[in-house]
Amino acid sequence: MKVEVRFRNPGVSVCLGLLALAIVYRAGAAGQSKSKDSELAISHEARALQPGEVALLTVRSSTPIQSIEGKAFGKTIFFFSDGDATVWKGLVGIDLGVSPKKYPVQLAVTRLDGKNLQTHYDLLVKDKRFPTRRITVQEEFVNPPAEELERIQREENSVSAIFATASPQRRWAGTFLRPVPGDATSSFGVRSILNGEPRSPHSGTDFHAEAGTPVKAPNTGKVVLADNLYFSGNAVILDHGWGLYSYFAHLSRFTVSEGDSVAPGQVIGYVGATGRVTAPHLHWSLRLAGARVDPLSLLAVLPDSGGN
Ligand SMILES: [Zn+2]
Repeated sequence: MKVEVRFRNPGVSVCLGLLALAIVYRAGAAGQSKSKDSELAISHEARALQPGEVALLTVRSSTPIQSIEGKAFGKTIFFFSDGDATVWKGLVGIDLGVSPKKYPVQLAVTRLDGKNLQTHYDLLVKDKRFPTRRITVQEEFVNPPAEELERIQREENSVSAIFATASPQRRWAGTFLRPVPGDATSSFGVRSILNGEPRSPHSGTDFHAEAGTPVKAPNTGKVVLADNLYFSGNAVILDHGWGLYSYFAHLSRFTVSEGDSVAPGQVIGYVGATGRVTAPHLHWSLRLAGARVDPLSLLAVLPDSGGN
């Protein structure tokens, strides 16, 4: 049934390819451990445990759990159960800039019978080398004119302030949709040299898409920014809750306003070439508890089943 749905989608080769990759990665990178008392079994799924990747943690208990408080990389990891109180899941983001080593996820588990369990699960993060690309853009985007610096700083501050917070409620549910049918370029984490000057790594993924292609919300969210920014052009930030944000840039225009709630698949704007770009495409960045992570790594652990 999944295949039927996917074949009606013009991006069929992309979706099937991603699905195949996800299965391989799940098999390849899954890990598990049991806590000392064997009452909890903890495992993870991820494309890889590397900088810029999302890992989906699963905690299984012999008896029902009331709540789990998680902590990793100094940030709260939110856990949820979908019906079965013996199985809980949480997303962990490994920031683009972390060093390769072992990072513990601390877990405080409260069972329904009142018993508290403390344990941890180690994520062994391996090294990843991101490529460098040299691109030529209009000079004003490399060295913006002095009169734009205040605007740029103000925009950076407001975006940073958004990503620094985590909404206490979870808005996202289920799986995540691709915002456009086009292929993604392997652009995440790439260090750019703009007109010969090194810049910070690319913290999003670019998708091939013609100007005017509708951009769909990958999951439920609240619009916390819909504005024209100097570098990102027409941009929309969706707060999916629990510290997970989607940031879409370079839109020709957006069709939502700050404060709006959007449903999965709802059109939030159209692909364009506004801001610092060389051609029309969709830029999608994800932040998870402040970590810069590749949207494709989230799609790999929570792939769209075609049901949405
Ligand atoms: Zn981009």
